[in-house]
Order: sequence, then structure tokens, then C-alpha cells
Amino acid sequence: MFCNIVNGGEPERVLYQDDLVTAFWDSHPSAITHILIISNRHIESLNELQPGDISLCGHLFTVAKKMAYAENIADYGYQLMINTGYDAGQTVFHLHMHLRNMAPKKN
Ligand code: AMP
Repeated sequence: MFCNIVNGGEPERVLYQDDLVTAFWDSHPSAITHILIISNRHIESLNELQPGDISLCGHLFTVAKKMAYAENIADYGYQLMINTGYDAGQTVFHLHMHLRNMAPKKN
């Protein structure tokens, strides 16, 4: 499902994309700002990461920070979360990081 977004299936939702990751608005936001940052490559979960994915992981965090600044929440506080497996509530099995603000958006 997220591969479709990587491949241009929901362009109106996408905020950022490069060779490694895509960031887009969550379709059912649980915060005023709720963005998902995903690996472009289909990786089912954190459990499937390979030793060669270290730079990908660092990049996920770097893009999360970039999105937090772009949405003007970086200075106020935000949460990064990766659900891994059914017991953690993972519902989409394509590695993704949730970026959510923790307070009403300030402009
Ligand atoms: P998780 O429960 O950690 O697997 O999170 C999956 C997230 O993906 C949820 O917050 C859903 O609202 C979101 N989601 C599911 N399908 C889509 C979609 N097509 N576009 C954007 N967000 C989606």
C-alpha cells in the first residue's frame, strides 16, 4: 500500500521524496500534524533491517527533523514513533516512522 505512494499513487499527500525515503500526510491523523516517513524500499518492519541500512535509518531521522521544521513544530515538541509488529499496533507492514506534534500548532 505504501509502495503505491512511493510510486506516485497519491501525489497530493506527499510532502517530500528523495532516493531513500518519502514523507506524506497520514490519512487518519491522530495529531494536528501527523506525517509518516517511510523507506522507499519495501521493508516490512524494523525487524527486517539489514546491516547495510544504517544510512537509511539515519536519513529517516534527518528527514523527520526536516519535516518538523517545515511544519513549524520543531521548536515546540514532537514525537517520533515506529510500531513494530502486531502487538505494537503496526497495521501497515512497510517500515514507517510517525512524526506527530504534541501540542496545538502555533504559527
Ligand atoms: P501503524 O499502525 O504504525 O502501522 O501506522 C499506519 C498508519 O498509516 C496509520 O496512522 C494510518 O492512518 C496510516 N495510513 C494507512 N493507509 C494510509 C494511506 N494510504 N495514506 C496515508 N496514511 C495511511
